[in-house]
Amino acid sequence: MSRLFKVIGLVPIGNVDKDFLEDLRPPLEKVFGQRVRIAGRTALPRDSWNRDRGQHLASLLLAELSPLPHLADRVLGVVDVDIFAPGLNFVFGQADITGRRALISLKRLRQGFYGLHRDEDLFQQRALKEAVHELGHTYGLGHCPDPSCVMHFSNSLPDTDLKGWNFCSFCQEKVNQKL
Ligand SMILES: [Zn+2]
Ligand SMILES: [Zn+2]
Repeated sequence: MSRLFKVIGLVPIGNVDKDFLEDLRPPLEKVFGQRVRIAGRTALPRDSWNRDRGQHLASLLLAELSPLPHLADRVLGVVDVDIFAPGLNFVFGQADITGRRALISLKRLRQGFYGLHRDEDLFQQRALKEAVHELGHTYGLGHCPDPSCVMHFSNSLPDTDLKGWNFCSFCQEKVNQKL
C-alpha cells in the first residue's frame, strides 16, 4: 500500500475534547506523512476500571482498539482518564510493539493536574510528543538515547518537556523504512 493511502486513526475513548484532537492532526500528519482521521468516540469499557487505584488498566483500553477502524494502518486511542500498567503507578501511554495500536492518556499532561497554572500550549505539546512516541513504538522503535529525540524515554514531565516532537535522524530513518 502506498503511504499516500495509509491512514492513522485517532480514536477518542470516553470523553475527549474534539478541538484538542483536531489540533493534534496537522503535526501528526507532518511527522508521519500520512493522513490522520478522527474516528467516532468509543465508550470507556467497564472492565478496565480499577476502583482501588482509581485508574484504568492501559492494556484493556488498548484492547478496545481492536479491530482497527476501517482503512487505518495505525490507530491511536486517546483517553482523558488516568491509566496504569502492572508494576507502575501510572503510565502516560502504551503501545502494542508488535502491532499497530497505541494509546495515550491526557490526564497527567495538564499543569492543572499538579496544581499549577493552566498552560494550553504546553499541554498540546506534551500530548503531541506522547502521541508520536507511542506511535513510534508501533513502527518498531525502541527508546532512543538522544534526549532531544521524541523516542527518548520520559520518566517524568520535565523529560517530556525537554525533548522535541520529532524523531532524530536515526529513528526517522527506521520509521521511513516501515511507512
Ligand atoms: Zn516508550
Ligand atoms: Zn531517536
